[in-house]
This record gives sequence, C-alpha cells and structure tokens, in this order.
Amino acid sequence: MLAGMSALPTIDAVRAAGQLLEGVVHRTPVRSSRRLNAHFGCQFYFKCENFQRIGAFKIRGAYNAIAQLTAEQRRAGVVTFSSGNHAQAVALAARLLGVSATVVMPDDAPAIKQAATRGYGATIVHYDRNHQDREAVAKALAAEHGQAIVPPFDHPHVLAGQGTAALELFLETGPLDMLFVPLGGGGLLSGSLLAARALSPGCRVIGVEPTAGDDGHQSLQAGKRITIQQPHSIADGALTRQLGELTFQIIQREVDDIALATDEQLCVAMRCFAETMKMVVEPTGCLGAAAAFAMPAAIAGKRIGVLISGGNVDMVAFGQYVAGVDSIFGSAT
Ligand SMILES: *Cc1c(COP(=O)(O)O)cnc(C)c1O
Repeated sequence: MLAGMSALPTIDAVRAAGQLLEGVVHRTPVRSSRRLNAHFGCQFYFKCENFQRIGAFKIRGAYNAIAQLTAEQRRAGVVTFSSGNHAQAVALAARLLGVSATVVMPDDAPAIKQAATRGYGATIVHYDRNHQDREAVAKALAAEHGQAIVPPFDHPHVLAGQGTAALELFLETGPLDMLFVPLGGGGLLSGSLLAARALSPGCRVIGVEPTAGDDGHQSLQAGKRITIQQPHSIADGALTRQLGELTFQIIQREVDDIALATDEQLCVAMRCFAETMKMVVEPTGCLGAAAAFAMPAAIAGKRIGVLISGGNVDMVAFGQYVAGVDSIFGSAT
C-alpha cells in the first residue's frame, strides 16, 4: 500500500501532529516514584499513556491520520482491521471528526471489546479468523465503499501521531539518558525515535518486545524484516508477526537496541505499578519498565524515561497476573 512512498516522516510531522492534537487528547502526566528511584539509584520519568483517552496512546495516531483526510475521503468514512486499542482509537477519533468508522473484527472477539468499539459509534464487520484474512476483508470493504484504511502502525500520519507522547515527555523533562518504548508493529517506537533524535540527541532509545514475539530483534540483527509465527504472550498489544515497512526503516536507522521481556517480568512490573504508584497498567504497557528493571547496572545514576503505553486490562486477569509474582522489593513488602 505504501510502495512508492519514499520520503520518511521527520520531526516536523511529529511537531505538526502535536499541534493538531492539542486540546483533543490528554497531555498525560509524567510520574515518578521515590521508592523506585531509591531502589535502582536512578531518576525515573514515566510517561503515563494509561491515562490517555481510550486508555492508550493509539488515539494520537488515529486522530492525526483521520484529520488529514480530504473532505471527500471523510464523507466516505474509514475502515480498520484491529480488535485491540487501535479499534477504539479509530472509533473515537472518527466520531470526534464526524467521520463514520467500520472496524473489521473476528466473530469471536471478546464481547467487551466489541461493546467498547460500538460504544464509540463504530460499525463492526465480522470475519472468520480461521478462513479469512482481516486485511483482505478491510481492503475489499474499502474498495467497495471508497473508504480510507487507517492501519494500526505502518502509516506516516499514524506513526507521527504516536511520536507526540515522547515529544511531550522530552518537552517536560529535558534531555534524558535512556528511553524505553514498547514495540509491536513499531508505530510508537519509530515516532518516539523521531522525537528523541530532535529533542535529546544523546538519549539511548531502546525498543522492548515480548520475548515470545521477538521479530523486531531478529529483524534488526538480520538487517531486513523477519516474519515470525503468531506469538503467544500476555502482551496482547505487541503480538505482531512483523514490523511495518515504514516503521522498520526508521527503527533500523535510529534505534540503539531492542530488549525483550518475559511474561513473568511483565507481571512483576504490573504489580510494581499497582503497589508503588497505584496505577493499573496493561501487560503491553509494562514492556518498557520490565526491560529497564532487568538492567540495573545500565540505568544506575541516569535519567530514565519509560513510556507506559496503555492501561486496558481485564480486571480478573489483572488480579491473577499480580497475585502470581513476588513484589520487586522482595517478599517482605
Ligand atoms: C499498540 C500498542 C503497543 C505497540 O505499538 P506499535 O505502534 O504497534 O509498536 C504498545 N502498547 C499498547 C498498550 C498498545 O496498544
């Protein structure tokens, strides 16, 4: 779809998105924890997108993409093909802009996700995940009705929008030594890299994937995009099988490293956020923190940014995740 699109987005696109999003999305808080700072001997800056509208950063990219459609495209409406946070982001962004939205979802998608998406006014079109390809279903719909597809990460306006979270972070904190960013298809990481290189050139930016879904790590080593089997992890927002064409180019050019986090490390971080900062963070939202906590020598004495990407997690599952691990401060706490 993006073949022939040569120029990669730059920091200018991220700054423009930041202006467009002002007053539309929340400027989420940057929080810290004295206890965590003391434990690791560093200064943490957590950018809390778990407090963002729809409960995750994805409203930033979705709104930035839909707002830039032509009047004619807006009249035709938009389509997307994700059942996660991106579906709700597209549904809300479309409603705010007076555009109709169609979300292609598997017929067995959790009822709560379908209800949330419908609650924002989107129409759901079901497909059979065993026999149909969701992207093909979305493309057929788009072709039939002249609708624009808003993909979850591999789009210049989507990734520029996602970069505004890191942009806000750096504007608030000034330069940082390291920044840890969750990595799925790479929209959040590539946008964050554009912001970091402009506002904090010396900052080491680390993308973090679930250990079971390390396609980004493999791709960086191979020097080309690697596609993996469908991964299984509790980090359900980062289960992509490969990076985007566009996002990979930016990540390959700019990223310092890609780290991995196991499901157990995600549970420890989830428990830590609940215990010390009284925050509910979803497993995928814990990727950055889990990787930072796993490299105490690298973070000691430094100013550490961590992007907390979202907070949408089923409460029964949340209880099981945090009950299944010890506190990061040891069993005495
Ligand atoms: C989508 C998502 C990610 C991954 O973002 P990409 O742009 O696909 O890399 C991380 N965390 C949360 C909460 C998400 O919803």
